[in-house]
Amino acid sequence: MRKHIFNAGPCVLPQEVLQKASQAVLDLDNSGLSVIEISHRSKAFVDIMENARALALELLGLEGKGYKALFLQGGASTQFLMVALNLLEKRAGYLNSGSWAAKAIKEAEIFDDIYEVASSKEANYNYIPKGYDIPENYDYFHCTSNNTIFGTQMKTFPDSPIPMVCDMSSDIFSRTLDFTQFDIIYAGAQKNMGPAGTTLVVIKEDCLGKVSRKIPSMMDYKTHISKGSMFNTPPVFAVYTSMLTLEWLKGLGGIAAIEQENEKKARLMYSEIDLNPLFKGFATKADRSMMNATFTLENENLKETFETMLKEAGISGLNGHRSVGGYRASMYNALSLDSVKAVVEVMSELESKA
Ligand SMILES: *Cc1c(COP(=O)(O)O)cnc(C)c1O
Repeated sequence: MRKHIFNAGPCVLPQEVLQKASQAVLDLDNSGLSVIEISHRSKAFVDIMENARALALELLGLEGKGYKALFLQGGASTQFLMVALNLLEKRAGYLNSGSWAAKAIKEAEIFDDIYEVASSKEANYNYIPKGYDIPENYDYFHCTSNNTIFGTQMKTFPDSPIPMVCDMSSDIFSRTLDFTQFDIIYAGAQKNMGPAGTTLVVIKEDCLGKVSRKIPSMMDYKTHISKGSMFNTPPVFAVYTSMLTLEWLKGLGGIAAIEQENEKKARLMYSEIDLNPLFKGFATKADRSMMNATFTLENENLKETFETMLKEAGISGLNGHRSVGGYRASMYNALSLDSVKAVVEVMSELESKA
């Protein structure tokens, strides 16, 4: 039986996407070829790539607004470096809101000193810093919309006087936002869009071409834009499966529709965390993530019982990240409300037993 999959990434994908993807591994649209055997230069694959790129822009409401979507490799972690290589000339401002943000800062610091506009590190990143200034004369401002490990999420974004770059790895396509406020958005596919192996990068073209350094071809966004995201062999299976997920999302009614489901799931999860005296939420309430709910079990003696009960209920992947401990319920787009209900039932059953 299929488990309730709460993994933080790679994570749950829609059943219908898994079925179509597995069929295409055997035979893509009755072509007699597998999706992982066709040439990436074939019409069949070029169509897949173009469809995936167009769907990404369409769902984000960025069609015809000067943006290009790319499906690159190397994970979101490579974007930490690519962003700096492509945009950093003098100095950049970074919001240090979590471990991934800190890793992005570390890569950019290879080039220059980075100015941290604000940090919540002193509180083990349990909140999102607010009320900071972004210097006007810097090259760009970088932030992380959802801090996967700590379970915090930016609810609003600063009115940045300089290009704004956002790592949306763990909440892309999960909620409606005015995406035109960002100049670069990047997201590893494996959190909310597809399997591991590709990273969506959405770029407003006019923010490129402003640095004086030479950029290696593979690291240069312009190379990938000019080649339609096919400069080298793209990760065909990851792109195909991401395309299927984006089609699935569009079929449901797009981001606005899935946002309502995500709100329901988060409301249910957090109300149990708050009402059940055995559990305690980790993140500051105002900054709680709709995607990753982090919480601890107050009484360590109940740990074994709780975990056995979770296992018996078919719940997988609820363990917290080592830097926070406790539990983390990752409730990405493809996770059903029923899966959240299953966890909440176990939590309240534990309360009645204790
Ligand atoms: C997982 C994650 C990353 C790293 O992604 P990779 O694709 O593994 O490099 C970066 N940023 C955030 C916010 C993440 O959740």
